[in-house]
Amino acid sequence: MNLAHSPEDLAFREEVRAFCASQVPDTLRARVRAGLRPTPKQFREWQDILYRQGWGAPSWPREHGGTGWSPVQLHIFEQETAAADAPPQFHQGLELIGPILFTYGTPAQKAYYLPRILSGEDWWCQGYSEPQAGSDLASLRTRAVREGDHYIVNGQKLWTSYAQVASKMFCLVRTGTETRRQDGISLLLIDMKTPGITVRPIQTLDEQHHVNEVFLDNVRVPVDCLVGQEGRGWGYGKVLLDRERALSATLGVRLSRQVAYVREQAGRTQDGARTLLDNPVFRHKLAQLEIEAMALDAMGLRALADNVAGIDSGPRGSMLKIRWSELLQRATQLWIESLGYAAAGFRAPDGSDPQGGIDAYGPMSAYLHSRVTTIYGGSNEIQRNIIARRALDL
Ligand SMILES: Cc1cc2nc3c(=O)[nH]c(=O)nc-3n(C[C@H](O)[C@H](O)[C@H](O)COP(=O)(O)OP(=O)(O)OC[C@H]3O[C@@H](n4cnc5c(N)ncnc54)[C@H](O)[C@@H]3O)c2cc1C
Repeated sequence: MNLAHSPEDLAFREEVRAFCASQVPDTLRARVRAGLRPTPKQFREWQDILYRQGWGAPSWPREHGGTGWSPVQLHIFEQETAAADAPPQFHQGLELIGPILFTYGTPAQKAYYLPRILSGEDWWCQGYSEPQAGSDLASLRTRAVREGDHYIVNGQKLWTSYAQVASKMFCLVRTGTETRRQDGISLLLIDMKTPGITVRPIQTLDEQHHVNEVFLDNVRVPVDCLVGQEGRGWGYGKVLLDRERALSATLGVRLSRQVAYVREQAGRTQDGARTLLDNPVFRHKLAQLEIEAMALDAMGLRALADNVAGIDSGPRGSMLKIRWSELLQRATQLWIESLGYAAAGFRAPDGSDPQGGIDAYGPMSAYLHSRVTTIYGGSNEIQRNIIARRALDL
């Protein structure tokens, strides 16, 4: 693995750095630094800024409107945007359905949907999980029955992130009755304004509204909203596995930035006559976390090097996800510790900010929200099963 950057890569770094210095809105920086995810409006604002720069889809090939950047450039982009306290882009359109569409979509689907993802005009949510069908996704029961030029969809989705603001949903539905459960599943693109869709919010521990229940009651979906072939929807997700390796390579970058916030905070927190940063016990915990975040970044770079060389790095995506989520939980916990009682600010029941604004409740919200990272995107237990099967041959 060669860690030296080419002159072109170094010039690219300067370009991204200069862009971030002038283009990241202060309100967005403040929110990221406070540990909060951007609001949907802020996600859109950031997407719009990148889109106008021609960087709307950093990881997409040029032919589909992406930047065509190399994995190394993607890594540099992530480093510079993280250093500037810019948020990651909202990923469900860009990284989940977008690549499936440019790989399996019809020319009409590509022409219609891809530009709308790039510009941020469409906000996509992912309708996969259901009650009794999370880890065991193949047992999903939402059914689509073909009637003429439409599918009639009935069922319920659960934990659907941002369905409350989404204009579209990519949705796994059962269209067949095959014995092998994966074979009867299709992927539909559903307009969230279609009659028969009800979105019910779920309030999570961090006092935010990210997730929802989505009920589908005789929802009529035109057949040209089917992606690929009927009954083959399950397989289309596999296209994401290769991409996941390049993208998970950047997880350590953001984590290191979050650990840097902890260091900064500890330098401000008084601990008797000194700051918390001078407390040897705290320093030890922080140093250990910094080392492990660096190790995660190095592991990501190895995945990236494999990706560039076209080598199958096995279940490294699963390994990265486990380490990242566990370290993020430790980092946010240490952040709370670095704030002491000041971390206990919560929003009022009416949703208004406590005294001190977002800085007063952001870190606690980040700490509580980090609990979900070992669950979503395939729980860590499931990732361990994947490692056992693919790396250890168990
Ligand atoms: C904040 C958040 C956002 C989400 N956003 C979305 C979204 O936008 N769209 C969407 O479709 N889904 C979303 N999900 C759902 C997420 O993918 C599921 O929660 C996840 O797959 C786990 O499924 P489950 O909740 O049904 O738990 P279950 O599958 O019931 O698992 C319960 C527990 O049992 C363990 N377990 C289950 N099976 C095994 C096994 N074979 N071996 C070992 N342990 C096992 C699990 O690890 C877990 O600890 C979101 C979830 C959260 C928390």
